[in-house]
Amino acid sequence: MDYAQLLHAHDLKATTARISLLEALDTEPHLDAETLEQRLIAADIMLTSQAVYNALNELTEQGILRRFTIPATSARYEIDPKDNHHHAVCTRCGRIENVPCAHGAAPCFHPGGATSFSISIADVLFYGQCKDQCASESAADIVF
Ligand SMILES: [Zn+2]
Ligand SMILES: [Zn+2]
Ligand SMILES: [Zn+2]
Repeated sequence: MDYAQLLHAHDLKATTARISLLEALDTEPHLDAETLEQRLIAADIMLTSQAVYNALNELTEQGILRRFTIPATSARYEIDPKDNHHHAVCTRCGRIENVPCAHGAAPCFHPGGATSFSISIADVLFYGQCKDQCASESAADIVF
């Protein structure tokens, strides 16, 4: 992915903060701001927490990043593929994976009865156990 070109297409300068955040999320999606900051430090990219937060907010406002939240945890980020995909969270190890949206666009569900709202988004989050690691083990849920 050409991050500089992506940024220029959104009238954003290709700063170190923006480029390095996009690189980190391309490699490992669904990270929160604190973890991203740690990844940058590990790569010898020294930015203040404020610079990381600012860049994440700008990239999200421009629609380059998508922010989503799993209840009781901090906001997470990913490069937005614009496919309205949902997330599955493993209730044992906390692993997060993309789950395709059956409908493909928001809102993918509608209320089962009459409503006085014009619905724009149905926020869907799947919980379960990851098949790779946790579903085969017999211990109880530990994360949530
Ligand atoms: Zn798991
Ligand atoms: Zn995702
Ligand atoms: Zn959906």
